[in-house]
Order: sequence, then structure tokens, then C-alpha cells
Amino acid sequence: MAETMRAIVKTAPGRGVELIEVPKPDPGPGEALVRVVVASICGTDHHIYHWNSWAERRIGPRIPQIIGHEFCGIVEGVGSGVTRISEGDYVSAETHIVCHSCTPCRRNQHHVCINTKILGVDVDGAFTDYIVVPAENLWINPPDLPSAVAAAQEPLGNAVHTATAEPLAGKRVLVTGVGPIGAFSIGVARALGAAAVYASEPNPYRLSLAAAMGADHTINPTEVSLRETIMELTGEGVDAVLEMSGSPLAIRDAISCVIPGGHVAQLGLLSEEVSLDLNELIFKGIRYYGVAGRRMWETWETMSELLSAGALDITPVLTHTMDLESFEEGIRLMDEGACGKVVLTVS
Ligand code: NAD
Ligand code: ZN
Repeated sequence: MAETMRAIVKTAPGRGVELIEVPKPDPGPGEALVRVVVASICGTDHHIYHWNSWAERRIGPRIPQIIGHEFCGIVEGVGSGVTRISEGDYVSAETHIVCHSCTPCRRNQHHVCINTKILGVDVDGAFTDYIVVPAENLWINPPDLPSAVAAAQEPLGNAVHTATAEPLAGKRVLVTGVGPIGAFSIGVARALGAAAVYASEPNPYRLSLAAAMGADHTINPTEVSLRETIMELTGEGVDAVLEMSGSPLAIRDAISCVIPGGHVAQLGLLSEEVSLDLNELIFKGIRYYGVAGRRMWETWETMSELLSAGALDITPVLTHTMDLESFEEGIRLMDEGACGKVVLTVS
């Protein structure tokens, strides 16, 4: 009988997932088989669990689908043609599988590849004992990198990409939205030499995470006017906003809080259309950068250097650790917003 493994699978449309036994995959040409050690839960997994309209459209046609994409593990085998990766390597994965032939790819803009396939969304994912991925997507970790940190490098990379849209050294930075990625970005902005970091977030638990990650001031925009508070603190506005919430309100705040000539880097994804006063953006001369994924591989290099140098400690954001079987408990914590990143120990 073929070998099987545990996997968290979206087995039917609607709310929920199942932990079931599925066949263990084999690596094909150019691929690697990775034994998953740690995987962490992303907002995307949360959406797939709760089955919002995006999940229905994107995952619906792929059911049954193994979900999850943030992980690290040990390479247990490679397919033909793989030379850079070998058995025993301690790896994490870039989750965007790109085509290398579209115009953005040919321009070295792989992060906006037109044919991107995402692990755990468009192909089987990482909440399982073994995963097969294109070997070119693997990043080899230093042996002393803690496994929870190694797994969280994928969302951390979103934060690094956002924070490196423009130089932050000596700049006053506002982070709007302190979910796990916003919280990471506070640490990244600090590590990159920001002069001051302000964080805006309505959830008190997450405001305390912002402080733990080194924010100078934490602001609850449901209690005070964010713009007035930022003007009081800075006199003239912040130089940069890292928008990490996807809230229309926060986006309007971002444009109003940034100094003329400053920039906004937008990672937060919107679930609705937003109306903005674009004249304000134009007359303030604001540069607005849309952040998609991670730059391959500049973002990974910067992130790895910051972690190895000890300039960045993300462990305060890794608030909960549980086993694969407790996945739904992790989802409940995310429902309540009573967590940073939830980490699953797989093997
Ligand atoms: P999250 O949902 O855990 O965090 C968002 C936070 O924003 C929450 O804590 C929420 O309370 C806060 N918030 C809501 N309204 C706010 C407001 N008006 N002002 C300030 N904060 C507000 O999400 P996450 O996992 O940390 O991810 C951050 C964002 O990045 C999400 O929108 C996610 O969809 C997006 N994302 C984008 C990419 C990309 O490639 N562009 C990749 C991953 C995640
Ligand atoms: Zn491409």
C-alpha cells in the first residue's frame, strides 16, 4: 500500500477543514520533498477556513486542497535536475511559484509574475507531514535559526518588502494595522534605523504587541484622531507609512498623516472598494507603492541578514505554539484577534 501522511484539507465548500490521511507525494523533476517541521497560520488560511467569497472563487475549483504555506522543514529527497538543494538541507520556502517567461519575470520583477501560483492556494500546501515544492523556491536557512522563526519568514518577508520600498533610516514611520505582519514591520523599521516608529491599531492586545516590537507610540484610532495625534507627535507628519491593515479608514489616515514628498507602502489587502481623495495624494507629491509578496530574492537576503546579525527579533510576535491537530484552536484565536502569529509544530 502507498505511504500516507496527515494533512489539513479543504474537503468541501463552506466553513471548516478536515485533518485526514492522504498519499505521501514524490518529487518530480526540479522538485524537492520536504518534511515539514513547523508551519504557521496565515490570514489566507483563516479566509479559506471561513470560506469568504475570495476563497470560494479561488479554492472552490481545487477541492480537495491541502492548505497552508508558511513553513520550514528538512529536505528528504530531490527530483532529477536538482543541484542547489540536497537531502538534509534546512529550508523555508518562497510561496510564489513564478513562470520565468512573462514580461515582469523577464524584467526581474518575479514578485509580480503574471502567472504566479501560490503554495496552499493554487497547489497543495504545507499543513501536512511532507510537501513537494519546486526546488528553486527553497531558501536554505542557517542551522541555528529557530524553526518557528524560519517558518514565519514568508510573512516576515512581506514586512521586509514593505519596509524596504524606500530607505527608512532616520525617518519617522507610521505602521497602520498591527496584525502579525504589521508587528513584524515595526521590528524591521527599527532594525533599518527608523528614527521613530508609530503604530496605529484598534485592538488593545495587538497594541501591546506593537510596543513589544519597539514602537515609540501606540495609537488606538478608534479612541483618538490618528492625524491629530501624529501631528502633535511630529509637528508635520511622518515620512513614511507602512499600511498593513487593508482598512479604507487606515488608507485615508495614511495619506493624511504622511508629509508632502513622503511615501506610503501598501501591503494590506482590501475586501471592498475604497474612495480616496487622490488630489491630496497628488498635491502632496506622495509616492504610493503596492507591495506584492517578496522580491526574489532581494527581500529574502535582507531578511536573512537582519535575522543573522541579531538586528531583528520577531519572537514577541510568535505568541502561540500548538500541534497540527489543534489547527482549529489557532483559527479561533485569530477570530478573536487574541494572538500574534500562531505556530504549528508538525514534526
Ligand atoms: P491581520 O488581519 O492579522 O491584521 C490586520 C490588523 O489591522 C488587525 O489587527 C486589525 O485590527 C487592524 N486594523 C483594522 N482596521 C484598522 C484601522 N482603521 N487602523 C489601524 N489598524 C486597523 O493581517 P496580517 O496577517 O498581519 O496581514 C496584514 C495585511 O496584509 C492583511 O490585509 C493581509 O491581507 C495583507 N497581506 C498582503 C500580502 C501581499 O502580498 N500584499 C501578503 C500577505 C498579507
Ligand atoms: Zn512570470
